[in-house]
Amino acid sequence: MKYVVLLCDGMSDHKIEQLGNKTILEYANVDNFNKLAKEGICGLIHTTPKGWYPGSDICNLSIFGYNPKEVYTGRSPIEAASIGIQLNEKDYAFRCNLVSLDKNYETMEDFSAYHIDNDTAKQAISYLNDNLKEYGVEFYSGVGYRNIMVVRNKEFDVKTTPPHDIMGKKIDRYLPVGENSQFLVELIKKSWGLLSDKFGKANSIWLWGEGKKPTLTPFHEKFGLNGAVIAAVDLVRGIGKLANMKIIDVPGATGFIDTNFKGKAKYAVEALKEVDYVYIHVEAPDEAGHMGSIEEKVKAVENINNLMLPVIIEGLREYKEYRLLIAPDHPTPVKLRTHVAEPVPAIIWGSDIEPDKNTFYNEFINPSFVFNDGYKIADFFIRRYK
Ligand SMILES: [Zn+2]
Repeated sequence: MKYVVLLCDGMSDHKIEQLGNKTILEYANVDNFNKLAKEGICGLIHTTPKGWYPGSDICNLSIFGYNPKEVYTGRSPIEAASIGIQLNEKDYAFRCNLVSLDKNYETMEDFSAYHIDNDTAKQAISYLNDNLKEYGVEFYSGVGYRNIMVVRNKEFDVKTTPPHDIMGKKIDRYLPVGENSQFLVELIKKSWGLLSDKFGKANSIWLWGEGKKPTLTPFHEKFGLNGAVIAAVDLVRGIGKLANMKIIDVPGATGFIDTNFKGKAKYAVEALKEVDYVYIHVEAPDEAGHMGSIEEKVKAVENINNLMLPVIIEGLREYKEYRLLIAPDHPTPVKLRTHVAEPVPAIIWGSDIEPDKNTFYNEFINPSFVFNDGYKIADFFIRRYK
């Protein structure tokens, strides 16, 4: 049996007035999604444990089949694994966003420093390393605005806030609080003078997503399948690495709305020759959601429909036995510009799947399965469905 998971980050949405009170999925051309819904089964997955924040890390862990309540230690240790940073038991990793604050350093203008390019971001990170040595912290470059800071041998018990959740808001209420938070606030404020306007629109760092190194049972041990991951964003690649899965690079995969949609699908199909399970992560709909752009989100969803699904379907049909799971990790409604902890609609389609009565795919499917503990979807998808 060959398995593909197509994870469409942040794809599900709420009704939107400008679209005649339709959701993005209701409005966009999703004929290939609909076809799969018609030939397969649809259901709902609660990817976020009750009371938790619907972070992509937590929600993706669920779809991979790991119980976030058991394995999750924070977001940035996962990204750190992706970059190949060695964390020891007593070390903490923080996500270090390059962000744009207003000129008085009071308001969060953009959580991504207006999508700072890789080269400029690398220069900024290396400049911070050179100039903040006295604090004994280490900065590591990730992709664009997404970078990592490591603090060795220091305990933290802090509350931090994702910068994409405070767009346009005053930052003072959202700076780190708790044990040793002053250390972090000082670093953030120190960065203002250092970055100023030397590195594009990045004039500050923002520290959040802290945590220690997590331990995941290898995917192969858990499900008996050799797995691979295709993703441009570090947190999904990191889950793959921590789960001992193969990480496949795709040229032109950006983690943004201009990503190489077709390439990702083609590389996934190619990978099936070698492995039994491929997890494809597409960040584009989530980014469009955070931007609050209806137009870009429609485009992202239609690109998945037009450029990825036909390739994946054709690729899977080369095999006698195959299954495909399609799901967002969480909704990122364009109106809210952030993640919400609501169940996501999913499709399971494949050679041995007997269709239910659904004829379309969107937030209003008639569920044949509901997983309140979202991580149980993986076992159902891989083993239990008969
Ligand atoms: Zn996400």
